[in-house]
Amino acid sequence: MSERELLRCVNLKKYFETPGGMLHAVDDVSFVINEGKTLGVVGESGCGKSTLGRAILRLLQPTDGQVIFEGVDITHIPMKEMLKLRREMQIIFQDPFSSLDPKMTVYKIIEEPLRIHRVFNNKKERAERVAELMDIVGLDRRYVDTYPHELDGGRRQRIGVARALALNPKFIICDEPVSALDVSIQAQILNLMMDLKDQYGLTYIFITHDLSVVKHISDDILVLYLGKMVEMADSDRIFENPLHPYTKALLSAIPVPDISYKGKEAEVMRGEVTSPIEPPPGCRFAARCDLATERCLTETPEFIEVEAGHHVACHLFQKS
Ligand code: SF4
Repeated sequence: MSERELLRCVNLKKYFETPGGMLHAVDDVSFVINEGKTLGVVGESGCGKSTLGRAILRLLQPTDGQVIFEGVDITHIPMKEMLKLRREMQIIFQDPFSSLDPKMTVYKIIEEPLRIHRVFNNKKERAERVAELMDIVGLDRRYVDTYPHELDGGRRQRIGVARALALNPKFIICDEPVSALDVSIQAQILNLMMDLKDQYGLTYIFITHDLSVVKHISDDILVLYLGKMVEMADSDRIFENPLHPYTKALLSAIPVPDISYKGKEAEVMRGEVTSPIEPPPGCRFAARCDLATERCLTETPEFIEVEAGHHVACHLFQKS
């Protein structure tokens, strides 16, 4: 079956002005996601992954570069058009407790996008869709008149998923959707998201700080460090043959023994994290990298394909 491109980011940048200078939160990020695929975006907190998600949806206006959705450059389309497009492009947030309005019942929260986008003509049709969505995400209908604070974290996140699905989107950005949940609940929500993806042909960007979470859900994985792409490959290759020293350190930090990763001991990342404010030339990981050389301190490594489908930004893999 031929694959169809859904989303393309081209040299996407998001900078913020700060009193100390320009903060490079997302710096030259490019990738393509085909329909029905999941791209895992991984990195420590502050690496720019959530900002990237918001820049793609234009919740934050990109500083430079392009976001192309279904072949259309949406980077600068008027906000009115962008709001229409939000039917196709949704987001699930990390903390369902703070992302759901505490004054609204489950019914009102799930119904809201249907009302705003005037998808149904009357209340009865909307009520039927809300009930259907609750069934789809495995949320018992008896919770329809409860408030978010009356439910546990897993059920709250099911509300977030139902709301994101309400308008039949094609593409969902999942921003750390299980990070705030207990481990046992995490697995339930991840399984639900994988089932929904298969059932509705959804395309995901799955943002997380935890590589182990994206292993099974992602087709490809992009590793970000201080706003820069440092490695990208299919999920198996990232786990079996990580190349970038930062990816290796992230993998070795996974606490649960993973027989498919042939790393030795946990690699502790030492050194100060470089400031993303007006970052100097050179590799942004150099201060924490045991393999850094003089060149790493002065020359920014290019993001290059070192084997088919496997890209990395590190001087160890560059020819000259
Ligand atoms: Fe380490 Fe140099 Fe590679 Fe950066 S470019 S990851 S500092 S070896």
